[in-house]
Amino acid sequence: MSPALSLADRLRRTERFISFIRLGVVSFNTVMYLTLSPTREHNALAMAIIVIAGLYALVTVFWNPEQLSPSVVPVVNMVLDNVLIAIWLYATGGYDSPFFMLFYAEAAATVGRFGWKFGTAAAAGSGLLYLTVVLVDGGGPPYQVISRFAYIFFIVAFVAYVVEAARHVELAAMAAEATTETYEELGRLKAAFVSTISHELRTPLTTIRGATTTLLKNEDRFDTEQVRTLLEMVERQSAHLGRMIQDVIDIATLEQGEIDLLFDWCNLEELLKEELKRVGETIPQEIRFSATGGIDEIKCDKALVSRAFRNLLDNASKFSSPKDPIDIELTQVGEQVCVDFVDRGIGIGPNEQERIFDRFYQIDSSLTRKAQGSGIGLNIARELVRLHRGDIRVTSAEGDGSRFRVVLPKDPDVVPAKVLQLSGSPEPLIDRARAR
Ligand code: ADP
Repeated sequence: MSPALSLADRLRRTERFISFIRLGVVSFNTVMYLTLSPTREHNALAMAIIVIAGLYALVTVFWNPEQLSPSVVPVVNMVLDNVLIAIWLYATGGYDSPFFMLFYAEAAATVGRFGWKFGTAAAAGSGLLYLTVVLVDGGGPPYQVISRFAYIFFIVAFVAYVVEAARHVELAAMAAEATTETYEELGRLKAAFVSTISHELRTPLTTIRGATTTLLKNEDRFDTEQVRTLLEMVERQSAHLGRMIQDVIDIATLEQGEIDLLFDWCNLEELLKEELKRVGETIPQEIRFSATGGIDEIKCDKALVSRAFRNLLDNASKFSSPKDPIDIELTQVGEQVCVDFVDRGIGIGPNEQERIFDRFYQIDSSLTRKAQGSGIGLNIARELVRLHRGDIRVTSAEGDGSRFRVVLPKDPDVVPAKVLQLSGSPEPLIDRARAR
């Protein structure tokens, strides 16, 4: 659970705890007022407030406003509490009233809800309100019958609130610290990304410019074969540039949550074969495709799924030797279709296997590394697959290669979420025999 969520839950739980205390305090004071009041004359306003406060206290115990922001509920409750207490004091004798103790309970509750600083300010506010009531009422002898039990009750309530408050403050500090750390880490990664992407964009551009300048200068001297080689280079590099720009656009669109999914029934075998025809030339490795058993059509956004596959295939190629083949295996497990991208390259250590899916993360982010890339491809691939209610998993061993498995439900509209937790996968995930 994230720290922010814990804090929201914490506030909800504190508010519920306060609701029970409120009910207890209101009931206790009502009994006190009705039985111990020296005059035994209970005016209509006091009785009306007793009914309203009783109902309100009951409602807050059962009220569970999940849809409201957790910080709105305590504020609403606090304001209502204070208003009710003020009218109640006025109606039951002002300075003489036993209900002035409610302000202490309310002040303690505020500390529980919002911490010490706000709690102290609210207590001062409550004190002022109480003084106002005393002034309006004209004052009188202090109320005499406050039983020992009342003191004990309020002390217990106060201590409970203080304990709650201390825990609340500690939790808020932890949440703030975690958020700062996350932001700092994201800032570091973003800075690395800017430096990487500018380098990555410049490299293919330099090649394209070099090739076109050479062509223009030597127009008459080059034969068709040489011209073709240079044009192919330009085509390869501009396709690479296009993909990188598409990745940056995807990241921005995913961040804003603005991707429109165009679902259609699609045969993944055909989709993969088309993709392979398109990329065949640009990938030096031999690509071996296999489909086991009958594979049902799946409902997906073809363009987005292709992009996810393309990123995984690019990685399999980038991080393995041109001499080692890459396998793409298509299988069906129940209502899900799996596509495995298996390379026999450098592999990924156990500590890195989750982090590589983080945005901007690269195991080797130095500008001198061999493989091109900007650290966003896997993040995009996983997000795109998750939009289809699928997932990507990796099994890898350093030096032995990697297997990236994309799991897609046949129909994202009907898949129960738990089916996506694939329990184990067909073994062996890594072909340790390193078939060549
Ligand atoms: P990049 O653009 O750097 O490839 P990705 O998000 O696609 O970014 O991948 C993040 C990192 O994960 C890569 O920089 C690399 O270190 C590691 N990685 C991804 N795929 C593989 C693979 N098939 N084999 C080894 N390492 C990989």
